[in-house]
Amino acid sequence: MIDNFKIESEKDDVCPTCEDMRRVETGTRIETVQIRNESVEVDANVQRCTYCGNFFSSGDEDEATIQKAYRKFRERRGLLQPEQIRELREQYGLGQRAFARILGWGEITIHRYEAGSIQDEAHNDTLMLVRDADSFARLYEKNRKTLSRSVSQKVDEHLIPLMRDRQEKYFVEYLASNLNEPADLIISGNRKFDLERFESVILYFCGKLDHVYKTKLNKLLWYYDFITFKHLDRSATGASYVHLPLGPVPDNYDFFLADLIRKGSLEANEIVFDVEKGVTGEWFKAFQKPDLDLFSDEELRFLDQVAKRLGDMGARELSDLSHGEDGYAKTKKGEFISYEWAKNIRLFT
Ligand SMILES: [Zn+2]
Repeated sequence: MIDNFKIESEKDDVCPTCEDMRRVETGTRIETVQIRNESVEVDANVQRCTYCGNFFSSGDEDEATIQKAYRKFRERRGLLQPEQIRELREQYGLGQRAFARILGWGEITIHRYEAGSIQDEAHNDTLMLVRDADSFARLYEKNRKTLSRSVSQKVDEHLIPLMRDRQEKYFVEYLASNLNEPADLIISGNRKFDLERFESVILYFCGKLDHVYKTKLNKLLWYYDFITFKHLDRSATGASYVHLPLGPVPDNYDFFLADLIRKGSLEANEIVFDVEKGVTGEWFKAFQKPDLDLFSDEELRFLDQVAKRLGDMGARELSDLSHGEDGYAKTKKGEFISYEWAKNIRLFT
């Protein structure tokens, strides 16, 4: 053990063995702590008396050594650390007692765990489970009668946005996985809708170009998918486009935009053009890099070309441009625009 002692400094202090003032070395040494039949080695802060050679440490130092060993033990066993338990509890707006009650545990159990006691495995399993808002909500429903009205109101305030977030996420995933199935040449351009590609193209345009307004973004997406289809016989994102008054718009596009905003990948900025008439516009800025590895070199070349050729155009100009395309001119309001019209796109010819 003495071999492990790393001296950091020296001072005059009382040696508990000699019971007298001595020259004392301060430093660390490796100690083994037994936790549930397991040996955990940690660096412990200790002193050594240079006169009698004995090691000693304060109560605080012993406690710190134990806590260090506990942390290592929890890490090894995949147990939550005290601060993770506290964060979990605070996520639901709960005090320690109320949280313990919802979990059906003794009142001071959570207090003990947050203060550093090691939780048993079954309790840890429950804690891991209630990190998921749905699982927590089920336990909460079961035990909410044990809570005061003000406490359950506070939990509701925290829980409802968490659940809504989850539901929106599931909804968008469900929507994306059920769009254009099976892939239909006419409306999806030979590709099943691919959410990752679709989001990446949005992030690409909104990262590369300034002030990308909603109408403009729709046109950029449409041109990109149709030009890609024209040359490669397959669309880039699998999105379907609908004929709307201001031009072609990706089907269900608002949900996917909202999802990007919810995730913090995209920021929406509203601008008021005319206060009296209440005319507003929204432009987007990307806060996440697009995943360009998803695309082939040719697909990336078209993406770059669309950004270069159309990126500087205003929404009005782009809208007029798209109105002149056969895909738009030969369809009616509300109809899907067939990818078969891609061959007539006049841009890049
Ligand atoms: Zn001594």
